Amino acid sequence: MSTIKLELVTPDGGKVFAHEIEMLIVRSTAGELGILPKHANLLTELQPHAMRVKADGTETLVAIGGGFMEVTPEKITILADSAEMAEGIDAERAKAAYKRAEDRIAAYKNSPKDSDIDIKRAEAALARAKARLLVKNVQV
Ligand code: ATP
Repeated sequence: MSTIKLELVTPDGGKVFAHEIEMLIVRSTAGELGILPKHANLLTELQPHAMRVKADGTETLVAIGGGFMEVTPEKITILADSAEMAEGIDAERAKAAYKRAEDRIAAYKNSPKDSDIDIKRAEAALARAKARLLVKNVQV
């Protein structure tokens, strides 16, 4: 089967992942994208989500906290704000982040005018926590 190189880099963790893969499914700001070998050149922004990496016949989920993706026919490069595989995720921390973000969003919805809550920031935090819990296979 043909493959494409995936390189995933974060500001703090350096190179999280570098591997020949068969397929990548990501959520960009323009919607879901499936990337196969020999894909056309592409530069896009990624949402916080659980991306799906298919390699060696198996699928692995990686929690991405947003970032940018560059695709050429031979290589995918992702510069992620944060990236963790299941073993790197602290489920209790992600649950606490989920609850905090949910409470902030609820408070904002109760009184949007009086609130000094940054709703976009709270929604992004909720999406990061959801992605981590999905990768960790934890229900909330
Ligand atoms: P928190 O409010 O718990 O810090 P967050 O979504 O605001 O969550 P980020 O800013 O996305 O956190 O990440 C900061 C750093 O902490 C990154 O290096 C990220 O990989 C790491 N990190 C965040 N949450 C977790 C978690 N639940 N398990 C493991 N590492 C985490």
